[in-house]
Amino acid sequence: MEGLDCTRPLSLYIHVPFCHTKCGYCAFYSVPEHLRCDDDVGRYTERTIASIERLTAEYDKPFHTVFIGGGNPGTIGRERLESILRAALAHGRPEECTSEINPEDLSESFLSIDAIDRISVGIQSMDDDVLKTLGRNATAEDNRRALSMLSGSGRRFNADIITAVPGERVSTTISDIETIAGYGAGHISYYCLTFEEGTPLASRLEPVSEDLEIEFLKRGWERLGELGYRHYEVSNFAKAGEECLHNKVYWKLGQYIGIGPGAESSIGWSRAVSLREPEDLRSYNEGLNGTGVRLTSDETEEEFLMTALRTSQGIDKRIYSERFGYDFDSRYGEAISSLDAALYRNNGQSFSLTEDGFMLLDTVILTLAGII
Ligand code: SF4
Repeated sequence: MEGLDCTRPLSLYIHVPFCHTKCGYCAFYSVPEHLRCDDDVGRYTERTIASIERLTAEYDKPFHTVFIGGGNPGTIGRERLESILRAALAHGRPEECTSEINPEDLSESFLSIDAIDRISVGIQSMDDDVLKTLGRNATAEDNRRALSMLSGSGRRFNADIITAVPGERVSTTISDIETIAGYGAGHISYYCLTFEEGTPLASRLEPVSEDLEIEFLKRGWERLGELGYRHYEVSNFAKAGEECLHNKVYWKLGQYIGIGPGAESSIGWSRAVSLREPEDLRSYNEGLNGTGVRLTSDETEEEFLMTALRTSQGIDKRIYSERFGYDFDSRYGEAISSLDAALYRNNGQSFSLTEDGFMLLDTVILTLAGII
């Protein structure tokens, strides 16, 4: 594959583009059951395995991390998941293999898939009214059942929470955090609801006010911290040793290949190659190629800044200079001095944002990216 640097670690993302029904807020590419044809899942599985095999013929060592997401990987059944995983693990186990699943599909059979060592479950809320507003398939009872199974399984797991949902109280989201923490989640992703154009939710509801959104975030972040979760990325919190290795690859703009309709890849180093599979199941199943573009060094640097600043580790100045050939302080010192000092931490090794900086992430990025 043009641009792939086989001397560097490579991660694999597999997009499973199937869901039972479409959630009201979702703009990800996925096909709900009522729009699916009989052989869609079988053909998708064959095409995905063939793509992974082509990749493992070129990259002949274990992937750094593997992540199966979607969509809802729980919709394709254990056998198909295992055959995809066998292809992905052909050269050995990665450092971490995660699969997403929706709560209503979590079963003992799924939990016993040996290749998966971390599970990410889309809980979103423990409140039936909020789940209804979001148009989720699962009920609060389904969520409790899934969390209880995960808790008893000894598996490492993440739970996603969506907050700032119209009509929701801040106390409801805090209670969601406490309940999920009580089941022993090692990792919690905590996002504000986004209103994506063209979704049913965006056409019938208005977002909460900016002040209220800040209140949801501040109170949630505070409670997560009190419960022992470290805020290691704008929307992600982990107990010690529970950070998601796969997502850290994205945030460091490391090398990853995405396979599946609409999946994205980024490979290379100082000038990354950005690729995207066709965002359409039929085209994907027919073997149509996606599109690819080699970014300029400046574009790669901008991507690197935008992703690294999302993390509490921030930008490692030595790696930055190795990758882009500039001294970080000389290039950004002036722009940084125009920022409020409460927004960042800056020392000889790294530049990173504080929680106040996370709140104003877009502004900081614009200030720094403005000089590229
Ligand atoms: S389950 Fe996930 S991918 Fe599927 S519609 Fe809902 S939010 Fe979107």
